[in-house]
Amino acid sequence: MKPIMILDTTLRDGMQGTGINYSLEDKIQIARQLDGFRIDFIEGGFPLSSRKEAEFFRRMKSERLEHARIASFGSTRRPNHEAEKDPNIRALLEAETEAAVVVGKAWTEHVRQVLKTTLEENLRMVHDSVATLKRRGLTVIFDLEHFFQGYNDDPAYALKVLEAGTDAGADTLVLCDTNGGMLPADVTRIIQALPQERLAPLGIHCHDDTGTAVANSLAAVEVGAIHVQGTVNGWGERCGNANLCVIIPNLCLKMGRETSCCGNLRHLTSLSRFVAEKANIIPEKRQPYVGEAAFSHKAGQHADVIIKAAHLMEHIPGELVGNERRLLLSELAGKSTVMKKMAKYGNFDKSSQAVQELTDRLKELEEEGYEYEAAEASFDLVIRKALGRYRPLFELRNYHLESFKATDSPAKTVGRIFLQADAKELMGAAAGLGPVETLDDCLRDALAMSHPFMERIKLVDFAVRVLNPERATAAKVRVFITSSDGEKSWNTVGVSENVIEASWQALIDSMDYYYNNYVIENNGS
Ligand SMILES: [Zn+2]
Repeated sequence: MKPIMILDTTLRDGMQGTGINYSLEDKIQIARQLDGFRIDFIEGGFPLSSRKEAEFFRRMKSERLEHARIASFGSTRRPNHEAEKDPNIRALLEAETEAAVVVGKAWTEHVRQVLKTTLEENLRMVHDSVATLKRRGLTVIFDLEHFFQGYNDDPAYALKVLEAGTDAGADTLVLCDTNGGMLPADVTRIIQALPQERLAPLGIHCHDDTGTAVANSLAAVEVGAIHVQGTVNGWGERCGNANLCVIIPNLCLKMGRETSCCGNLRHLTSLSRFVAEKANIIPEKRQPYVGEAAFSHKAGQHADVIIKAAHLMEHIPGELVGNERRLLLSELAGKSTVMKKMAKYGNFDKSSQAVQELTDRLKELEEEGYEYEAAEASFDLVIRKALGRYRPLFELRNYHLESFKATDSPAKTVGRIFLQADAKELMGAAAGLGPVETLDDCLRDALAMSHPFMERIKLVDFAVRVLNPERATAAKVRVFITSSDGEKSWNTVGVSENVIEASWQALIDSMDYYYNNYVIENNGS
């Protein structure tokens, strides 16, 4: 079986997603990550569309990529124009990439109503555009827009478009489900009807409007496609593109297909989170393979089985894709869950005093309103404290926050903090909009010089929940904070009747967790 080539379009189709915008610098950093993961083609953007897009290709020329080929994207030449002089084709050539993705029409209705030209002229546009790029030595990937719908409407014409691309020397003919309306059975039926032996190799590009982009892509591979397009995390126009973070492990682990990324699967989770961070989107917890919940197990029976024989409960070990197993804690938590969490610090017997004490402590904390299912980093600190394996990052002397508001200006907060770290008295000050942000800034201000690792830690999510709303203003609140250093993410919790105090607990747990697990243990900062 032939290896499957992967084209990532995070930086082109992915940029069409709602709320997604990568700066030029982000795009370059994402391209480096994709190359490190050994994606075959990185579609970098549409050089004709803006200066930022064209600048990306210029900058990428000086990047030494290990594996990936950069591809520019554009459409076939305009009707009744010469390809060599056409602005679309010129922009593709001027991007000076090794590969070009050229998109053309395969649906007669689009040729007539959108291009407003004849069916014959569209075939010439395809042929000229592909042939011109091939003559300049580029790898040419020909995307057939709305191919499946076009085929359903007029199969003979859709086939002519495939033949025009083949005759002109296209390296790959990519069948696109541009409006995302197909189901796997449609994809299979249509591809099986094509005379693959006399066409250039086929590829697939799916959108997720029916929730089947991944299934459609895999169906296409099963019937002969050897090139798959998609985006990291599946983000893209409307409901998104086919999710490469699902397709790639499925190809490698489930279908036994070869891709150049298969050897790098253990970096998949960090690739997914890296792109999420650049997109400034909170990673979807329930995402297959790479989501935080993908290998999470609730306490009780499941956790018991996991400890005895993980393969009886999990479809793959999470480590294969760089994810990790999380055992969720809850009031039902048995000793086995607690033991598993403690395993990192040594072998503990179920009947040992340490296990009993921690199980009791956990119950107490849960009664106070703490909830560790989504705050494993805070629970790690509870264990460390119980085992005498905890070193506080600092000791608080006091903090002081003052919020003020005038009639026609927004509320502001100023704050100061005094603390002791490594036998030194430190002070930090900051001004910000909200109290939590200000407190966080004060803390960073105090520790920035002596603890440079603080700079790597970012708060990526902050959630507040009222625990007993019937008690109105005296209700307890629970604050969850998600932090990240760009690679790893961890969650912490705080509980109090005072929202600032609850936030403070979650905030220092976040810093303490990182300090105890990654700074002291690696003996660096
Ligand atoms: Zn698309």
